[in-house]
Amino acid sequence: MKTSVRYSVIIPVFNEEAVVQETYYRLTQVMKSVNESYELLFVNDGSKDRTAEIVESLLLTDQCVKLLDFSRNFGHQIAITAGMDHACGDAIIIIDADLQDPPELIPQMIEKWQKGYEVVYAKRAKRKGETFFKKWTASLFYRTLAALTEGSIPLDTGDFRLMDRAVVQALSSIREKNRFVRGLVSWVGYRQTAIEYVREERFAGKTKYPLKKMLRFSIDGITSFSYKPLKLATYLGFIISFISFTYLIISLLQKLFFAGTVAGWASLIACVLLLNGMTLMLLGVLGEYVGRIYDETKNRPLYILRDKQKAEHPTSDEVNWSAHQ
Ligand code: UDP
Ligand code: MG
Repeated sequence: MKTSVRYSVIIPVFNEEAVVQETYYRLTQVMKSVNESYELLFVNDGSKDRTAEIVESLLLTDQCVKLLDFSRNFGHQIAITAGMDHACGDAIIIIDADLQDPPELIPQMIEKWQKGYEVVYAKRAKRKGETFFKKWTASLFYRTLAALTEGSIPLDTGDFRLMDRAVVQALSSIREKNRFVRGLVSWVGYRQTAIEYVREERFAGKTKYPLKKMLRFSIDGITSFSYKPLKLATYLGFIISFISFTYLIISLLQKLFFAGTVAGWASLIACVLLLNGMTLMLLGVLGEYVGRIYDETKNRPLYILRDKQKAEHPTSDEVNWSAHQ
């Protein structure tokens, strides 16, 4: 058993004025029941609504609340990263703000951590209140990713998880730009375990992941952890060369032994379209990877905080820990 530990809960928020108060309330109840010190670290990812104001009002009344305020929207994965950079707990929990991930699961995660696991991730056994399209695309994404990465990233698992300080420190040393945090967590290793849960409906408001962001996110996930899409060109090249060669022999035999071959416009145009389509697609794949190399070489910071002083890494001692009495 670990005694006198400190927990950090990271909550990325983007236009969550409708839920943030309730999330604070539920998290506080759960964390108080744990009976150890804790901090609730809200990361405001450039919200355009009253989210920041609401968190600021919580700051005034509750010492456990902290706020990192981005200068604009940098995206969910970057918000989590900033949270991890600034969290000071011995165990760090990441949770969505919309209560789709039930805070009541946290004590269970803590129990596993106390037993010696360094990462406890929550696996979605079921998803409630999401559209068929969302469930289907999510399932397809997790399975494609598993196939391309030889199953090293757990299926149906979001960012809702508890991590030991050591894991978070390892993650903080990775500064790649197009981040897919759950993949990085698998990559760093350590003793990992899962608990299953039912993903609830969003408490209020709409999803902050429209199709465009979802696509971006899945391409980031796949390209950060697999080169296989690049190899597609090689495989397709082989297959097409083989087919073309066979077709060439057939045409030659036709020409030699059966005079009067037809002018074959349809097959010609089909070949041209197919090959051009494929070339463009593979150029696109190349572009994705080249774009990522470009992002890395620019060496920009991952995020910018509105309040610069807060951007400095605080040491644990500077942070005002308020134990539950
Ligand atoms: N989020 C964020 N920045 C973004 C998009 C989302 O910080 O650009 C946060 C959002 O506030 C929520 C979490 O990420 O706490 C997950 O987003 P959401 O619930 O909208 O995604 P979904 O559950 O629909 O996939
Ligand atoms: Mg959600």
